[in-house]
Amino acid sequence: MSFATFYQRSIDDPSAFWTEQARRIDWHHPFSQVLDDSRPPFTRWFVDGATNLCHNAVDRWVATRGEQPALIAISTETNSEKTYSYRELHAEVQRMAAIMQSLGVGRGDRVLIYMPMIAEATFAMLACARIGAIHSVVFGGFASHSLASRIDDATPKLIVSADAGSRAGKILPYKGLLDEAIKLAQHKPAQVLLVNRGLAAMATVAGRDLDYAEQRQRHMDAKVPVTWLESNEASYILYTSGTTGKPKGVQRDVGGYAVALATSMDTIFCSKGGGTFFCTSDIGWVVGHSYIVYGPLIAGMATILYEGLPVLATSRPDAGIWWSIVEKYKVTRMFSAPTAIRVLKKQPPELMQKYDLSSLQALYLAGEPLDESTSSWIAAALGVPVIDNYWQTESGWPIMTVAKNIENKPCKLGSPGLPMYGYKVRLLNEATGALCGANEKGVVVIEWPLPPGCLQTIYGDDQRCVATYWATRMPDSGLPAYSTFDWGIRDEDGYYFILGRTDDVINVAGHRLGTREIEESIASHPNVSEVAVVGVEDKLKGQVAVAFVIPKAAESSAEGRARLETEIMRVVDQRLGSVGRPARVYVVGLLPKTRSGKLLRRSIQALCEGRDPGDLTTIEDPASLQQIKDALRV
Ligand code: AMP
Repeated sequence: MSFATFYQRSIDDPSAFWTEQARRIDWHHPFSQVLDDSRPPFTRWFVDGATNLCHNAVDRWVATRGEQPALIAISTETNSEKTYSYRELHAEVQRMAAIMQSLGVGRGDRVLIYMPMIAEATFAMLACARIGAIHSVVFGGFASHSLASRIDDATPKLIVSADAGSRAGKILPYKGLLDEAIKLAQHKPAQVLLVNRGLAAMATVAGRDLDYAEQRQRHMDAKVPVTWLESNEASYILYTSGTTGKPKGVQRDVGGYAVALATSMDTIFCSKGGGTFFCTSDIGWVVGHSYIVYGPLIAGMATILYEGLPVLATSRPDAGIWWSIVEKYKVTRMFSAPTAIRVLKKQPPELMQKYDLSSLQALYLAGEPLDESTSSWIAAALGVPVIDNYWQTESGWPIMTVAKNIENKPCKLGSPGLPMYGYKVRLLNEATGALCGANEKGVVVIEWPLPPGCLQTIYGDDQRCVATYWATRMPDSGLPAYSTFDWGIRDEDGYYFILGRTDDVINVAGHRLGTREIEESIASHPNVSEVAVVGVEDKLKGQVAVAFVIPKAAESSAEGRARLETEIMRVVDQRLGSVGRPARVYVVGLLPKTRSGKLLRRSIQALCEGRDPGDLTTIEDPASLQQIKDALRV
């Protein structure tokens, strides 16, 4: 079938299309309605259907693939490797589920998971899914303030964590940050379950903190039946950054997500049961949720969970580590981010050629724009197709790519491809709201209804969801339009090109960060009066955060400015996490603002990138621009 036919069917007859796709997963009870669109802009998919993500990812395969590898946990930080078969994974997940139940966690309760990339993190996610608890995984790179705001929003009954993570041989003390976060948060979780990896000392709070190994021992033979959930019950919350300092809890369902992932594994990732999927993301991000944990397991594959860097700096200096994993575990499909490839590009190509990569059939890249030179370099080095795919935390699976298993259409360099089935992607002119023609830049929007798998709402705040994402309507149909907050352009062949964010969100090494969040951490420094953070183009990381601060007490000496810069970076590390640390902090006396006091971030960003600052008719004080230029020159 041509992709155009496949796509058109999903748009013209979504009920028939998604009914067919829904056969890819097990249903305990069939759905009575495919799509409930009675409350726009919300959607409910597979209404009344009863299913379970853990059943579809694990239990379903025990009879036919019981001895096949399911989870391969590799850490080059602790030099450990362990493979869990589907049968073993099934047993571990039931143990974890039994622990959770013994702690009073049940259907609809939230469990916050703040963990490094270890097998137990996956057990915890799947255990939640099994018993109908809602997991909220917080990326380990976030520090105590970020964690505290997520604890307060999700109000978890239980937090699952560990003593520490490790990055490039440096121990990251998770437990200390967690204790600090719980102290800061209004909401206090009743219980904290801790995996002790023996990496860092842990202070424990009697009655609250429990040792995972001890608990596991008590539940070795646990049999915990799957809790069948109505398709539209929540499976998880995943926080993501937006324009305000308060992160948004993207909430996803059960049935729609399972069907969307199962369909994508086949049509987009051309993956079959028995293969090995290696996604180098982190479980703290959406790519990790969808394509480390749920997607590959729903497809009956082995999935690799890797703790470590693409280029090892410590125990085993080796820039070929990923490729040695591909060789050893016969990886069939790999998924990574352009930044990681740009890091590898600096290494000698022999490191790649040393390994037998014949099992590898394709490399998928997502999370940030894929530049042509990185794409061509890695495609030539690996000798396999490199497939860009564009999506967001909110969508849960690719919005655009080339679905090679439907039709082997060509990819175009610099373009993530075509809108995927179910997504009515359009471009709207920012000023007039009119539909854009070919080769005309506009805001990428998706006409309601969104396909299965996408966000249901912002956790606990339908109103914020509507106000944030659905503020516009389609000029032709009048239907609500979901804004991606990305600029895009479409060529004559219908291929899209993504041109960056329309809002104040930046993308550092594929990690999405709100400049407001970084500004708020910086503003907590006692000597900061005003601050502006912008994303500036970077060859390696795509973008880096750059801060401009006005100190309360003027810093006239170079040493004073350098000290302030160091202190500010430390404050960001402590509050937000090193992931948000600005690459540079410049001290200025004025910041460019409009007469109504709005920061002209786009002008600051343009100056940082050596571009024209744009329309300045509304600027309050033109001298502020000179201050930015002078600071950059020093
Ligand atoms: P996140 O929600 O963290 O996955 O970040 C989503 C954002 O990353 C999108 O809104 C885009 O700005 C950017 N992004 C993701 N994938 C791509 C891609 N393939 N090409 C260009 N930008 C991308």
